[in-house]
Amino acid sequence: MDRQVKLKPSVFNAQIPHDGKIIAFNGVIASSLAMDAPQARIFNETLAEIARTGWCEDETLRRYLYALGFVVAVEHDEIAVQRAAFKAVKADTATLRLTIVPTMACNLHCTYCFQQDFAASKTMQPEIEKAIIEFVRRKTEHSKTLVIQWFGGEPLLRLHRITAMTQAFQKICTERGMRYYAEMLTNGALLDPTVVASLAKLSVRAIQIPLDGDIETYARRKGISLERAQAFHDSLLDCMPSLLEATGSVTIRINVDRNNPAAGYDVVRMFKQRGCCDPRLDFRLGFLNTRDGIVDCIPHDCFSSAEFADTEAAFRRFLAEQGFRVYGEPGPRKYPCAAPLQNNFTINPTGGIGKCVPAIGTDESVFSQIYPNDIERTLRETSTTDAPYADFDPYSGACSSCAFLPVCLGSCPRFHAPGRSVNCSLKEGLAETLAFYHVHG
Ligand code: SF4
Ligand code: SF4
Repeated sequence: MDRQVKLKPSVFNAQIPHDGKIIAFNGVIASSLAMDAPQARIFNETLAEIARTGWCEDETLRRYLYALGFVVAVEHDEIAVQRAAFKAVKADTATLRLTIVPTMACNLHCTYCFQQDFAASKTMQPEIEKAIIEFVRRKTEHSKTLVIQWFGGEPLLRLHRITAMTQAFQKICTERGMRYYAEMLTNGALLDPTVVASLAKLSVRAIQIPLDGDIETYARRKGISLERAQAFHDSLLDCMPSLLEATGSVTIRINVDRNNPAAGYDVVRMFKQRGCCDPRLDFRLGFLNTRDGIVDCIPHDCFSSAEFADTEAAFRRFLAEQGFRVYGEPGPRKYPCAAPLQNNFTINPTGGIGKCVPAIGTDESVFSQIYPNDIERTLRETSTTDAPYADFDPYSGACSSCAFLPVCLGSCPRFHAPGRSVNCSLKEGLAETLAFYHVHG
């Protein structure tokens, strides 16, 4: 490194004590260093020297700190660079992302479901489907990729409609030389060998299925009989190898609260007993809270944020011991969720166009509509720069001085609306998280 290049400590450096050590973390590179007290003293003296003089004599240390992002060139405006990168990602229209809800109806009755009070009869009508296809055709004239997320209700209740829409999307993408793939959130109850075999044709590349623990817990929380719960688990585990082959990625989301704190362990053991340890399978705990205030809390005994963080930390260790992939390592992100992206939309069964996936079924963030007889109007309204979250900038406001901004991007953009406060879940149990990935990352 040229001596002419003066250096300064990164504004995205943090230090967290853990178990008698200090973990230094840089939010841009997501690098971490675990140091004992004498090492931390040298580290901090070196950073202080660099802050004072722009340089340090120990070349090895200097290069090391630079490579890990703990120091940067003095003229490098890190916040401006990060902010510009986020702005460019938001404005990028090369990919069109749609979350489509073919129906709000569901075949289960999860006790904690935040959509349980929504009208089950709301199923997408053919004229809306047809207009969505036209919307996609017009909206992707200059795009390279189309990504569809199928969401519900239970999307597999409308598999034949998903199939018809997918064929239309695939045709558009083939004609334009565009890439196409889909993702699906399903309760899994309708997955059987025929349905699983169809997923590859539907270009479903990732699927997420919620489980709640052992068979008894699942039956109780889904409002079904023990026999039905047993049959569901048997069938899901039987088809898991072909599901992994068809999609390439299966996420099992285990929704936990104080009533089923050990659910994650039960589910993982169940898969392990059936010899299902595929690296394309990942288990994540789901935090059942108030859905960030989108709808009223469904009565259940929620964990506090701290309790959930502890539960998750213990579950991560268990997954690693059992030889499973562990999801959730803090790393640089392009966007916090897709809501602020200009070319991302949710479409509910009546054609309401919004931005925020958990808000589907409510009026929140709905700002336009699929107009079957006036798709020009839909195109105009969805090109507005006033869409919800369009002006979201995590680098100003409540999170602006946080060292973890590049790996968190302010968490949920809804928290940054006037009158709301940021629920900083990343910092909950952070020392444990960083220490874990320092070893297992
Ligand atoms: S939510 Fe918390 S961790 Fe995330 S950027 Fe804001 S202050 Fe930082
Ligand atoms: S705005 Fe918040 S609640 Fe909505 S999709 Fe993004 S992270 Fe989720």
